[in-house]
Amino acid sequence: MADIKTTCCIAGGGPAGMMLGFLLARAGVPVVVLEKHVDFLRDFRGDTVHPSTLEMMRELGLLDEFLKLPHSEVKEIAMQIGDDRVVIGHFESLPVHCKFIAMMPQWDFLNFLSRHGRTYKTFDLRMQAEATDLIEEGGRVVGLIAERPEGEVSIRADLVVGCDGRHSTVREKAGLKSDDYGAPMDVLWFRLSRKETDESETFGHFEAGAMMIMLNRGDYWQCAYVIPKGGIEKVKAEGLDAFRKRVLFMSPFLGDRVDELKSFDDIKLLTVAVDRLRQWWRPGLICIGDAAHAMSPIGGVGVNMAIQDAVASANRLAAPLKAGTVSDEDLRAIEARRTFPMRFTQGLQLMIQKRIISPTLASTQRPKPPLLFKIVGAVPLLQRIPGRLLAVGVRPEHIHTPDMLAKA
Ligand SMILES: Cc1cc2nc3c(=O)[nH]c(=O)nc-3n(C[C@H](O)[C@H](O)[C@H](O)COP(=O)(O)OP(=O)(O)OC[C@H]3O[C@@H](n4cnc5c(N)ncnc54)[C@H](O)[C@@H]3O)c2cc1C
Repeated sequence: MADIKTTCCIAGGGPAGMMLGFLLARAGVPVVVLEKHVDFLRDFRGDTVHPSTLEMMRELGLLDEFLKLPHSEVKEIAMQIGDDRVVIGHFESLPVHCKFIAMMPQWDFLNFLSRHGRTYKTFDLRMQAEATDLIEEGGRVVGLIAERPEGEVSIRADLVVGCDGRHSTVREKAGLKSDDYGAPMDVLWFRLSRKETDESETFGHFEAGAMMIMLNRGDYWQCAYVIPKGGIEKVKAEGLDAFRKRVLFMSPFLGDRVDELKSFDDIKLLTVAVDRLRQWWRPGLICIGDAAHAMSPIGGVGVNMAIQDAVASANRLAAPLKAGTVSDEDLRAIEARRTFPMRFTQGLQLMIQKRIISPTLASTQRPKPPLLFKIVGAVPLLQRIPGRLLAVGVRPEHIHTPDMLAKA
């Protein structure tokens, strides 16, 4: 078994892991990031880069280069509910430089972080490296074991960070306990080609017993069809043709290409979970991002929250990691700082699940916008509140870590 020694070992190269790895390396901390896949090219990742994340890109001096990557810009939150289109939030008055959500394939975002990470010699990203177990000594985590194509590797580190998502191996092996808040839905994820003549907007559509979100990805639509939790067997029993009809009911303009769905292999099931760890850390280890708090897709805020966790962690950890003095108090402080934003955001998601998603999925009547949505839709001033909550969230983080390559 090969051995590696580093200062910080991060399991998982998603938004949380890549941002934390980049920031620590930029601050001069030796860091190894392990990603189990061979590349970042997966379809099911969230594609939303929020104004608060764009603000961090600006603080890092990377915004102009970042916005050269292909993306589209969402400036308001609109929904089609039955016959009515309602705007429930806009981003015009946000106290940030980019007053829009950038819709960008997540692999472009992660590749961007990886490219910039590699400019620091302290950044070591290992693809096809799956964390499988922890190394413990005297009740303290001192490293982890990873499976690579050439065999097992043991990595010793002053700190292990679990950023391996909502099915985290690290949190399971660490024995950290979570509370499961439940989700009434799962999501069927598929793509259909997009034509120049289609509308360009990314949008969500609610009908009796059905919800579909379509993300504009240039030459194709990334579609998310929401079904009741555990409902996949029913969808399969009804057959592919019935599913194509469901899709057409939501978006009749797809009639000339819905046959691109040739089998259920073209449709991926994404199970939705909402949970949160009771304690995010143990001596020598902390979990952040979905590994600490799995997010519902509602609002498309999970990526942003994972990045906020990473920035808060880097701000607190960079100096003690460099000095070799990282302590339980540092880990406790990160959890304390991030728990309120998470509790608040997941609380909103749970309320929307209960008040809107569950009734819509159970309903046989054409839905009408709730009264609150109608009021907000009629008063642009009120649209600032959901706009701000979604785009910036509560207690937004800022970059406080240094850049070791910056000219004095
Ligand atoms: C259906 C659905 C749609 C969503 N849509 C959006 C959206 O549009 N916008 C949004 O902001 N959020 C969305 N979310 C939530 C969002 O995906 C997550 O909150 C966010 O990705 C969390 O980032 P993360 O870095 O913590 O974890 P992840 O993005 O899950 O990244 C974890 C990484 O770790 C790797 N990994 C896993 N196990 C190991 C291991 N043992 N060793 C090494 N590597 C490992 C994985 O391959 C992955 O790259 C959605 C969620 C769901 C379920």
